[in-house]
Amino acid sequence: KKTMRLDKMLGNLGYGTRSGIKQLVRQGAVTVNGQPVKDPGIQIDPAVDTVAFDGETIRYRDTVYVLLHKPAGVVSATEDLRDRTVLDLLDPEIAVFSPFPVGRLDKDTEGLLLLTNDGKLAHDLLSPRKHVPKTYRALVAGEVGDREAEAFRQGVTLDDGYVTLPAALTVLAAASAAEAPAHPEIAEPFRRVPAGRMSEAAAGTVCWIELTIHEGKFHQVKRMFEAVGRQVVYLRRVSMGPLQLDPALAPGEWRELTDEETESLR
Ligand code: URA
Repeated sequence: KKTMRLDKMLGNLGYGTRSGIKQLVRQGAVTVNGQPVKDPGIQIDPAVDTVAFDGETIRYRDTVYVLLHKPAGVVSATEDLRDRTVLDLLDPEIAVFSPFPVGRLDKDTEGLLLLTNDGKLAHDLLSPRKHVPKTYRALVAGEVGDREAEAFRQGVTLDDGYVTLPAALTVLAAASAAEAPAHPEIAEPFRRVPAGRMSEAAAGTVCWIELTIHEGKFHQVKRMFEAVGRQVVYLRRVSMGPLQLDPALAPGEWRELTDEETESLR
């Protein structure tokens, strides 16, 4: 049987400091199984006892799973001296669980980032042996076609000599840089290209592609395109294993996973 002190449980859930919580309990803000309690040190079994704060039942949990639409300009770290981190985007009620990003996206990459404090799940998802598929959409400067798709299917040699695992590349749309701002599929990602990044490619074609890889080397997608002489000007992750980027989330927004999504990860 797993019991814990009432004040510890409330502290884990972010209700305040140990002394603040003691005071709230003594003031009668907390009931256990419908009865007001005044002793912050009583033992609670979160699986059995119903604890309420100001009349609201508290759902106890010790793990959190957050689906974030990472925006450009924040780093996938828990702390950084210079830059804002993905944790700065979460509410304190979630941040109190100390979730951390499962893998990394570059500072300028957007899209699906899972954050959790479930170390076992994070470890399994990141294990190189599991080959969890990750799907990206990218705006690439220059022509992309069968030659690049075949190269990625075979594996390409990155700048450090590493040969990538087979990866699936699909071209979703192509347009000239002049047509791109009004193109039905390309206009949206084209708007998200950082100012100045298109200058080299300004005269040519841009391609909106989808690429699925089963590994996660540093800057992998950008370096794969470099290996075939192309430049990624905008990158977004759209899925990781069974998780999909939620179209209802704008860059910078997040939500907790549904129970179905959490189950799908196990
Ligand atoms: N590949 C990259 O190049 N960057 C990312 O952020 C993710 C995959």
